[in-house]
Amino acid sequence: MDDEYEDNDVQVLASGSEGLGVFAARQFNEGELIRSVNVLREITDAEPLRTEAGERPEHCAYPDGRVVLYGIPDRYYNHSCDPRAWERHDDATEIIARRPIPPGDEIQVDYLINNSGGDSRACNCGAARCRGTTGYSFFTLPPEIQHEYLPLLAPWFERRHAQELADLRCRQGG
Ligand SMILES: [Zn+2]
Repeated sequence: MDDEYEDNDVQVLASGSEGLGVFAARQFNEGELIRSVNVLREITDAEPLRTEAGERPEHCAYPDGRVVLYGIPDRYYNHSCDPRAWERHDDATEIIARRPIPPGDEIQVDYLINNSGGDSRACNCGAARCRGTTGYSFFTLPPEIQHEYLPLLAPWFERRHAQELADLRCRQGG
């Protein structure tokens, strides 16, 4: 496997139907930093994806209208509708545990946090609250899920959607 990865914190392994996934190599506590994301570079017209080198759109993230290529292992977080982790965007991008994660469990994130118009596809994440689809946008999530994710939104997402989020918080009473 070309994308083999293992350190004291995480390892990349086969993940059911999803291809590869990132798995905990040790116990993580709720709120604990799992990893700082390895961002390789920004993708631009001048420096496009090199598909011949195995770089693919699904290895990218789309913060604040930009396209950035994630390295290994961070390009392999799969989606869950009730994920064990989330991405904290600050000066760096960090993967944080949402709840205790035992060694061997897959570390997933919800692709709709900080997303306002992505691709949707069928979801079989196995979560009790699986939505059946990854969905297109944070703003199409059920209100109770939006409420849960509001504290996790990135500063750039808050800026870009200030009015919609103000309206949403108003509707939710805070
Ligand atoms: Zn799901």
